[in-house]
Amino acid sequence: MMKAHKVDGQRPYPPRVSAFTAVFWDELKQGRFKTTQCDCCGRQTFPPKVICPHCWSDKLSWVDLPIHGELYSWTRIHAAPTVFQPLAPYAVGIVELDKRLRLACPLIVPDGATVSIGNKIEMVVMEFEDGPLFAASVATAR
Ligand SMILES: [Zn+2]
Repeated sequence: MMKAHKVDGQRPYPPRVSAFTAVFWDELKQGRFKTTQCDCCGRQTFPPKVICPHCWSDKLSWVDLPIHGELYSWTRIHAAPTVFQPLAPYAVGIVELDKRLRLACPLIVPDGATVSIGNKIEMVVMEFEDGPLFAASVATAR
């Protein structure tokens, strides 16, 4: 179960939800991080796909993604695209989940945390007023 971070306001760039991706967004709202896995070759992709990009099968199933991983790369954005300017500066990262799947997402840096490659991260739900987005939160040293 992913931890939730309440965020004031609306998502600056809300996802376009299709009948297919509605599954992903509904699950995310419940704190579950999902993607598709190919029934033929067994590989997972992110974002979820209707056709397996590895073997072209259209037989895919929804599976849970790991929510823990490591920071593979990151940057802090100061000169943001117009819709994201109210959030700037903000961090984005590429995270590697369970040593196999990499994805890009906003990076939440808790107060007092320092960010470096290889940091432990945890996927979290950002609960905006109009719906969820996912982000990676840098683990704080204990
Ligand atoms: Zn496949």
